[in-house]
Amino acid sequence: MVGFDENKKIAAERAAMVRYHLQGRDITDPRVLEVMGRLPREAFVPPAYASQAYADNPLPIGVGQTISQPYIVALMTQCLRLSGNEDVLEIGTGSGYQTAVLASLARRVYTIERFHELAESAQSVLSRLGFDNIEYYIGDGSCGWPEKRTFDRILLTAAVPRVPQPLLDQLADGGILVVPVGSESTQMLVSVKKKHGRITTEPVCGCRFVKLVGKYGFPD
Ligand code: SAH
Repeated sequence: MVGFDENKKIAAERAAMVRYHLQGRDITDPRVLEVMGRLPREAFVPPAYASQAYADNPLPIGVGQTISQPYIVALMTQCLRLSGNEDVLEIGTGSGYQTAVLASLARRVYTIERFHELAESAQSVLSRLGFDNIEYYIGDGSCGWPEKRTFDRILLTAAVPRVPQPLLDQLADGGILVVPVGSESTQMLVSVKKKHGRITTEPVCGCRFVKLVGKYGFPD
């Protein structure tokens, strides 16, 4: 049980994160700021790291993976320009925190994770928090969602050497795909748009993500 004073402390840390690490940089989308000012990030990190839940850095979540730093979660979400009607495909469920941000801002989220222990733990936290607009799949997300369909937005939360073709194929016309592309040690976050079947790519910023391991990602 978390006491009243503890709740007040967490609320203050969350407000400080939004103010200094998001608004203090270039996060301006009011919907992203509102959601990240409300979601309990501490519920998504292992108990040993709960006191660092609002620090602006990645934290270990097990099996060699990390929960992304809050600023990067906010930046990637802002790049997706969500209005609330979108179906979003997320590759790399991890802790489920980014999934929660997306599910709060879009119509439905389809999320893929390769480690079943992470997928199961994320699903249990997200159900406990009341999310009922998320579909889960365990497998290689570089091959896309297992059904033949398209998505309005696609987000990869792990790095790829090049944008996987199956994901470009599953991006709807008028859609946006955000992905870190590069080597295992350093990447560029890029925003990919599809319009009238034509693909354009814009750089966002340099970044460093864990690698996406899969058929269209890096080898294990
Ligand atoms: N958004 C998550 C980020 C987790 S790190 C969070 O903030 O918690 C990236 C995640 O991608 C890891 O959980 C990793 O296991 C997963 N991943 C790596 N390769 C994958 C693949 N081919 N398919 C699905 N998930 C993958």
